[in-house]
Amino acid sequence: MRIAVVGGGVIGASCAHFLARSGASVTLYTESELASEASGRSLSWLNAAGPWPDHYFHLRMAGIDRYRTLLSQHPDIDWIRFDGGIFCSDEQEIRQWHQAERAHGYDSHIYDAGQIAALEPCVNPQALSSKVMVNPGEGWVSLPALIDWLIAGFKTEGGELCCDAGKTLPLTDEQGAVRGIRSARYGEAAFDKVIIACGAETPAIAAELGFPLPDGNVLSMVAWSQPQARLPRKVFNTPRVALRPHPGQALAIDHSWYADQITQDEAGRWTVPESVLTSLFAEADHLLHPDAPLQVAGYKAGWKPVPADGFPVLGELPGAPGAWVAYTHSGATLGLIIGELLSLEVLSGARHPMLAAFRPERFQA
Ligand SMILES: Cc1cc2nc3c(=O)[nH]c(=O)nc-3n(C[C@H](O)[C@H](O)[C@H](O)COP(=O)(O)OP(=O)(O)OC[C@H]3O[C@@H](n4cnc5c(N)ncnc54)[C@H](O)[C@@H]3O)c2cc1C
Repeated sequence: MRIAVVGGGVIGASCAHFLARSGASVTLYTESELASEASGRSLSWLNAAGPWPDHYFHLRMAGIDRYRTLLSQHPDIDWIRFDGGIFCSDEQEIRQWHQAERAHGYDSHIYDAGQIAALEPCVNPQALSSKVMVNPGEGWVSLPALIDWLIAGFKTEGGELCCDAGKTLPLTDEQGAVRGIRSARYGEAAFDKVIIACGAETPAIAAELGFPLPDGNVLSMVAWSQPQARLPRKVFNTPRVALRPHPGQALAIDHSWYADQITQDEAGRWTVPESVLTSLFAEADHLLHPDAPLQVAGYKAGWKPVPADGFPVLGELPGAPGAWVAYTHSGATLGLIIGELLSLEVLSGARHPMLAAFRPERFQA
C-alpha cells in the first residue's frame, strides 16, 4: 500500500513513523521544513487535566502513556519530562477541576500556595492563587525534538521525506476517491491513501474534498527565554502566564491574553508588540523571582489548530474514500497516540473504537 502523509508537524510525523514501522510504503510531504507551524511553537504540556468527557480523557491518558513508554525505553532523552504540573485559578474552578480529575482517577491535589515552595523552591508563592492544583503525573515535551526522532525512525524504515514541497493537495477520481497527491514542487504522484495532517490548514483542504470542517483556530505566540541558572521543573499554568522548562536550560512561555495583538504583515510574518513580550516576561519574573530578569531569546506566533467543538477530528472523510484527516488541539499530548491509532486504521481498514467519538461525520448533521 502506498500512503502519502501531508504535513510535517507532530501529527504528520507520528502517522508517517508508525505507518513506516508497520511496513507500508510512505512519503511525507510538507510545505516548508518540519515543525514549521504549531508544533514548532507549542507549550506542549502533557496532560489530561480538567473536566473532560470520558472518551477524551481516555485518549489523552493513552497519549501520556505512550510518552512514558518512549521515555522509559530511551532514558537518555532530555526533551520529555514528567516532573508534574501546577495549575492556578480561583478557588471555585480549582475545586471543580479537582473533583472531575479525582472522579477520573487522575492524580490531583489541592495545595495552599505557601506549600509550593517546598516543591519548587524558585517559585514565588505570592504570584500563585491562594489554592493551587498539583498534578504530579503531568509533563512536557519539546515537539521539534520529538519530530526529529520520529522522522529518523521513519527514514530508517524506508520512509521518504519531501520537505519544501509547497502546497500539497490530494487528487481524487471521478467518484471522489483518493488517487494521489499533487505538490507545488514535486508534481503529481499516485497513492492509495492520503493522511491530511496540515494543522490549522486542514479544514481548507477537507473543504476542497467536499467536506468542510468547522474551524475554531486561534492565534497564539510562544516565547523562549535565554538560558537560566535556576529553573522550575514543573509546568505552570497561571491566569497570566504559562511556562515550562525547555532543553538548553531555558523556559518556554506563553498565554492567551494577547491573542488579539498578534498581527501578520504582507510578507506573511507574524509579530507581537514589544509591550506584550515585556508584560509576559514580567509575569514570568513575578512567578519565578529569578536573580536577574528573564531575557527574551525569541518568539514565534501563528495559528493554533483548534476544531470548532474543541475535540479532535480523526478519520476517513465521508465522500472521499482513502482520505484521512487528523485535525486537533492538544496535539502535543495526543501526538504519539494519534499516529499509532490512525496508522492501524489506515492499514487495516478497521475503525479503531477509541476514535469513535472523534469522527468527521459528527459535523454532517
Ligand atoms: C502556543 C501553543 C501552545 C500549545 N500548548 C499545548 C499544550 O500545552 N499541550 C498540548 O497537548 N498541545 C498544545 N498545543 C497544541 C499542539 O502544539 C498542536 O495541536 C500540534 O502541534 C499540532 O500539530 P499538527 O501536526 O496537527 O499541526 P502543525 O504543527 O501546524 O503542522 C502542520 C504542518 O502541515 C504543513 N502544511 C499545511 N498545509 C500544507 C499543505 N497544503 N501542503 C503541505 N504541507 C502543509 C505545515 O507547513 C505544517 O508543517 C499548543 C499549540 C500552540 C500553538
